[in-house]
Amino acid sequence: MITLQEAFNIVTSDLPLTGIETIDFRLANGRVLAEDIFSDIDMPPFDKSAVDGYACRRADIGSPMRLLEVIAAGKSPEMVIEEGCCSKIMTGAMLPENADCVVMVEQTIESETVVTITDQKTKNNIAHRAEDLKKGALVIPKSTLLHPQHIAVLASVGAVGIDVYKKARICIFSTGDELVEPEVEPGKSQIRNSNGCQLVSQAARMGAAVVYGGIIPDDEEITRKKLFEAFREYDVIILSGGISMGDFDFVPKILNELQVDLMFRSIAVQPGKPTVFGRTGNKFVFALPGNPVSSFNIFEILARPFIYRLMGHPWKPLILRLPLTIDFNRKGTERHGFVPATIQDDGSVQPLAYNGSAHINALINAHALMSIPLGVATIQKGELVDVRLI
Ligand code: AMP
Ligand code: MG
Repeated sequence: MITLQEAFNIVTSDLPLTGIETIDFRLANGRVLAEDIFSDIDMPPFDKSAVDGYACRRADIGSPMRLLEVIAAGKSPEMVIEEGCCSKIMTGAMLPENADCVVMVEQTIESETVVTITDQKTKNNIAHRAEDLKKGALVIPKSTLLHPQHIAVLASVGAVGIDVYKKARICIFSTGDELVEPEVEPGKSQIRNSNGCQLVSQAARMGAAVVYGGIIPDDEEITRKKLFEAFREYDVIILSGGISMGDFDFVPKILNELQVDLMFRSIAVQPGKPTVFGRTGNKFVFALPGNPVSSFNIFEILARPFIYRLMGHPWKPLILRLPLTIDFNRKGTERHGFVPATIQDDGSVQPLAYNGSAHINALINAHALMSIPLGVATIQKGELVDVRLI
């Protein structure tokens, strides 16, 4: 049994990258940038007004001013601001020559073509050319995971075709004779396959190209055939179940036949101890425990950082340190525990009622997994605990 940190180091070391493709930036939400993006313009591209108001010289605002023109956003000013003059200007419009401030409409009275300032205290209200960004500056570095706000920045610098890492190609299997697909009413000794779709959703929401491979029965020959085929097609195989010490847990044996180097088979994590990670060349397999909370947990803490790294992004979970609402106790301390929890409105952490790794319903209201380090049995109410958002 190795520690979580050791397992993390193994699944994030010495990985190949998926390759690079060029895509339209509008489709890049959730993708990982494979190039540095530089600005092709100054931002703002010209001195512009930050308010609706009157552009003038600060020296003149004590006396009524003569109105020269109205400058709409998107239009260039035609008049230069001379002594005692002003031009009406809209937010975002280009500042006229000689103006050094814009007085907000709310602080003025306009009558005929004369403008009087009612409140002499005014900021300059000018956004200066290049104050946000200079032409040629690095705006988004390579390896950034792109979100909607990045798409806006790509648009603003005209980066319309961008290089991103290809999606990792992942095949998900469930194993077990007891499983039927969700459409089917389970027979006497059967249960519905909930891991398959859970893992597909977990991989899909992080932007991988995921395919569901179906249920593999607890049959050595079928397991062999399915895994051989999948290794030819995909970069990563993720399966759940079939790796414990049961008589019908064939997966590790077949991975051996496939010359997969099993880099660990057991980790000091609860839930999720019997987790297998293997590699053959640039193909990988994650075999997760069958219990649905274990499978969810191990995907989040190990498979997710692993898959992001294949796609070029050094992902780390957002871990918050928050106070606990109650005293927490557990029996064993030889594994790093993860307990489903909610984050209350006041920022405190409430562990959820949780019967163990089969209790998938415990995750329904969970915002986060509360982390209990090795060796720790009790945490007092009010003490700070690490939680990772899920
Ligand atoms: P295993 O790891 O195959 O020994 O399975 C451990 C437990 O998880 C057993 O109770 C299985 O019935 C259950 N289980 C395994 N696979 C799934 C699955 N795909 N969906 C829901 N439960 C599962
Ligand atoms: Mg099984």
